[in-house]
Parts: sequence; C-alpha cells; structure tokens
Amino acid sequence: MRIELNKLPDESELTEVYAPEWWRSEQEGEQVLGLDGPLQVRLKILRTGTKYILEGEMKGGIRVRCDRCLEPYPFDLDAGFHLYLQATPSVQKGETEVELLDEDMEVEFISGDEVDLDAIVREQVFLSLPMKNVCRESCRGLCPTCGANWNRETCDCRKEPANPAFQKLKTLKTNDSKR
Ligand SMILES: [Zn+2]
Ligand SMILES: [Zn+2]
Repeated sequence: MRIELNKLPDESELTEVYAPEWWRSEQEGEQVLGLDGPLQVRLKILRTGTKYILEGEMKGGIRVRCDRCLEPYPFDLDAGFHLYLQATPSVQKGETEVELLDEDMEVEFISGDEVDLDAIVREQVFLSLPMKNVCRESCRGLCPTCGANWNRETCDCRKEPANPAFQKLKTLKTNDSKR
C-alpha cells in the first residue's frame, strides 16, 4: 500500500489489514517465515512542515524460525513503531541542482510525497523480533555433528565438550571435596 502523504490532512489515522499471503520471503533463511493470520496495522500520520511522523501499531500472529532448532514456531506480534520521514524535494526539469539525500532511515521509504507502507511494515516486523528467537526456553537445538533435532530425537554423536565455565565449576567442587 502506497500512501500519498501530500494528500493527507495534517493529522490522519488509517488501518490496514495484511492477509497472510501478503508476506513473501525475500531471502533464504529469513527469520520470519510468514503470517499465521491477518496482520493488523494501525497508523497515525502527523505532518510538521516537510516532515512526517508515523506512529504505528502492529498486531498479529507470525511464524518465526527458532535460532536453535531452526523449526518454525508461532510468535504473537504486538509492537509499536515510530518513524520520522522527510519528504524529498521534488526535482523540477531545468533545475541545475539536484539534492542528493542521505540513505538514512528517514528517507528510506519515501519518494516524492509517497511512502511505501508495505516496506515499512516489513522492516518493522523484523525490528520487533527479540534478539534471540527460541521456540521455547528448553529448546535443545540441533546436534552440531549430525544435525539431529535434539527436541525430537537423540543421536550417537560424541557429546559436545562441556561449557568451560561449568567445567571450572566442577573442578572447584572436586577440590572442595578433597579438603
Ligand atoms: Zn527450537
Ligand atoms: Zn548427532
């Protein structure tokens, strides 16, 4: 959905509901695998001079890949975002100077007075994810040797060397018991 900012009043609100089919993976191995249901986006747009302030709220179920076992799991998305957009100066024919804009967040989604809401929502969905995505705290992950999913099966690979921190703890304990 493209929004023509210059046609909006100084303050406006809109709601957009994205159907599950809307989400497309753009890269292999992306964290977000798709939508589990409609994704609702509520947007408030305020204009101040040539700047626009976008306040958004996103709600919906998404499907996320677990960092440990790589299996998809449902994630309840309920996040807000805040963006500042700067309208690009329109380039008139015959003008000698063309102002180049920095490629920063403020101008990324805007061309002329149009903004691509889809691109914003897509980016915000990724930004709203936690640093670490795990299907559950107790997820055991995959065997680094054979790739077996340790949540579902066991394998005969040699056990990973214990975490050095724990090993130290063990040594300390042994020393203690010798006293
Ligand atoms: Zn997992
Ligand atoms: Zn294994």
